[in-house]
Amino acid sequence: MKIEGAKKAVNDHVVDLIDVCPHCGAKVHIVQLWNDFHQFRNGDIEFYVAFRCKPCGKLLVKTCRFRQNEYSKEQNLSFKGWDEKFPLSLDDDLTDEEKEHIPKEIAIDYQEALKCMSFGANRAGCSMFRRALQSSLLALGADHKLDLIKQIESLNNLPGDIKDWAHQIRIFGNWGAHPDKDNLKEVSEDDVKETHDFISKFLLYMFIMPEKVKLSRTKRENKLNNNDKLGQ
Ligand SMILES: [Zn+2]
Repeated sequence: MKIEGAKKAVNDHVVDLIDVCPHCGAKVHIVQLWNDFHQFRNGDIEFYVAFRCKPCGKLLVKTCRFRQNEYSKEQNLSFKGWDEKFPLSLDDDLTDEEKEHIPKEIAIDYQEALKCMSFGANRAGCSMFRRALQSSLLALGADHKLDLIKQIESLNNLPGDIKDWAHQIRIFGNWGAHPDKDNLKEVSEDDVKETHDFISKFLLYMFIMPEKVKLSRTKRENKLNNNDKLGQ
């Protein structure tokens, strides 16, 4: 096909498109706002298509490619496929809305760790996750002189499962006990994933759920009060 055909193929494809939104994490209806393309030296065409997620209203960009037939002298494109999506979805565990309940300084460390993890900077990612965890423990009243595992142990309001889990995470090791041996020499992708898994659940239990419960209680009480007033 020629470029006109490729444009039509893109515009036909995006009608009523359902895709996973990188912001709200749900499979939703995304609506095309605009598209344009550029041509590579070998004649391949790449489209950038901007969308708006219908439920959350945020923007995303997807790219797709058409391949030029290398044996053809004229433009002769065939659809190669959808390629990339921006922004990258950094966190499948916590939504942006949930993260608003985490104290700001801790959320900044957590977010930076996610960025490191997304492009394979595993050591930096682990280091930032642990920093987020340690700041959280201090915010919850742990003694700053203890090492990480003892800090976790010392918090009476932490569920037993979470304490057990913390012991299983190899990378937490002696961190804090021996600052020169931070166990970060060899950090695999699995290590950083496991650390992320742990910390997201920790933040959920300790900061997000209590706030959610508080909000829902206030909402219920307000509703009851309003009903009382209406009843009077
Ligand atoms: Zn969305």
